Amino acid sequence: MFESLSERLGGVFDKLRGRGALGEADVRAAMREVRIALLEADVALPVVRDFVEKVTEQAVGQQVLKSVTPGQQVVKIVNDALVEMLGAEASELELAVTPPAIVMMVGLQGSGKTTTTAKLAKRLTEKDRKKVLMASLDVNRPAAQEQLATLGTQTSVATLPIVAGQQPVDIARRALQAAKLQGFDVLMLDTAGRLHVDQALMDEMKAVADVAQPQEILLVVDSLTGQDAVNVAKSFSEQVPLTGVVLTRMDGDARGGAALSMRAVTGKPIKFAGVGEKLDALEAFHPSRVAGRILG
Ligand code: GDP
Repeated sequence: MFESLSERLGGVFDKLRGRGALGEADVRAAMREVRIALLEADVALPVVRDFVEKVTEQAVGQQVLKSVTPGQQVVKIVNDALVEMLGAEASELELAVTPPAIVMMVGLQGSGKTTTTAKLAKRLTEKDRKKVLMASLDVNRPAAQEQLATLGTQTSVATLPIVAGQQPVDIARRALQAAKLQGFDVLMLDTAGRLHVDQALMDEMKAVADVAQPQEILLVVDSLTGQDAVNVAKSFSEQVPLTGVVLTRMDGDARGGAALSMRAVTGKPIKFAGVGEKLDALEAFHPSRVAGRILG
């Protein structure tokens, strides 16, 4: 995760740390390299600009350059700015309602949405001791509902029985009723994926959200798609009130552009990171830990 960005930044900061005294020109030269490293990591240009401007302004402050360890001070400023860029605080799920709390999962096909639904259901069951019901509303892709049922068996999480021919809004209604009657704490709705941001499916998603009134609408996006992931998140957030983002395939993402741009561009917090194919490979997203990983 973030290996190439981490290596680039590491090179810049090793040079700074090794020096006893720093002048403004040294800081500006280092920031030019940071700028290139962030752009190569596929971070959105306006986000890079803001970051470099803010860090430079703080770092050339006389207190910093006159301190005993100016290099380390500059690295600390960069660390704090990275944490802020990543969303500052870890964002929890908001499930404190009269049960069942509803979590709706949305996203493009192949983003890892169904896998993430099962991972999150497993986490809620095992870590938070919630009684979880999962329901697939995906009537477009053949065998999507069966895929979720199989994942349910693997994770020991209940899934809504499949009724052939039922439409998404009706499945959502049936799922809600089942969750209420059977005393589930959380109902997870896995909606149909889409190949690209397409209006018919967006309308379907809105209709489901109207019926289900979810506490959480989580967008699942593939971090390997970099800026595309951020653009997808922007488009979705214009159509439905997303409460957060789950970034998948972070295990294979050496660059980190999606993670670093997401919050600033979309205003939505990253709540979880998918870090592998296994069903326990899901982590809560902690900006400070992620910044720590990037800076080594
Ligand atoms: P969907 O079409 O969005 O529902 O996508 P799926 O849930 O079927 O996932 C597509 C593929 O991505 C599967 O092979 C998953 O195992 C894989 N996948 C999902 N999340 C991750 C992740 O965080 N890391 C890795 N390496 N693979 C993942």
